[in-house]
Amino acid sequence: MATLAEIREFLPNSDCGQCGLTCAEFAEFLQRHELAPEDCPVLHELDYAGFIEALREVLGEPQTKPAAGMAVDPKKCIGCGICVTLCEYHLGNCADVRLSKGPRDLEQVIFHIVNGLVVVVHQEHCTRLVQAAEKCSKCAQHCPTKAITLY
Ligand code: SF4
Ligand code: SF4
Ligand code: SF4
Repeated sequence: MATLAEIREFLPNSDCGQCGLTCAEFAEFLQRHELAPEDCPVLHELDYAGFIEALREVLGEPQTKPAAGMAVDPKKCIGCGICVTLCEYHLGNCADVRLSKGPRDLEQVIFHIVNGLVVVVHQEHCTRLVQAAEKCSKCAQHCPTKAITLY
């Protein structure tokens, strides 16, 4: 990530206020990719030719956070079904699981057991993806063989 000093090398640093901020504040917005170099009107003046391009180079591409997800290690999974039974989403959305039965409607499950192994069918329902990664980790916590990795 570009440092504020690196960013400020290519700002006018005149605190003219046309952007509604000071140059230092503008630099912080640039660093977080919440404003772009071209949002400073002064940088469009001839005296600053090339500064917008230089700033784009210094700032680089915004870092995108990888989506929260999960992986099941088939070598470790023993097909006990604990994860299916305890899954936060299943308990709220799958009547079969609530009744301690194997789920029949696979639209309503994140994973189920096939031939003694967990198979993920609808990871997109997982609370970690729908809400936030820190909201649930029950399946991994309760897996007796640590077959589930959440990331
Ligand atoms: S418009 Fe540009 S020069 Fe003026 S305060 Fe904002 S960043 Fe600084
Ligand atoms: S709790 Fe672990 S071992 Fe049991 S079925 Fe789920 S992933 Fe496999
Ligand atoms: S993290 Fe929670 S909601 Fe997601 S699969 Fe595991 S138990 Fe279900």
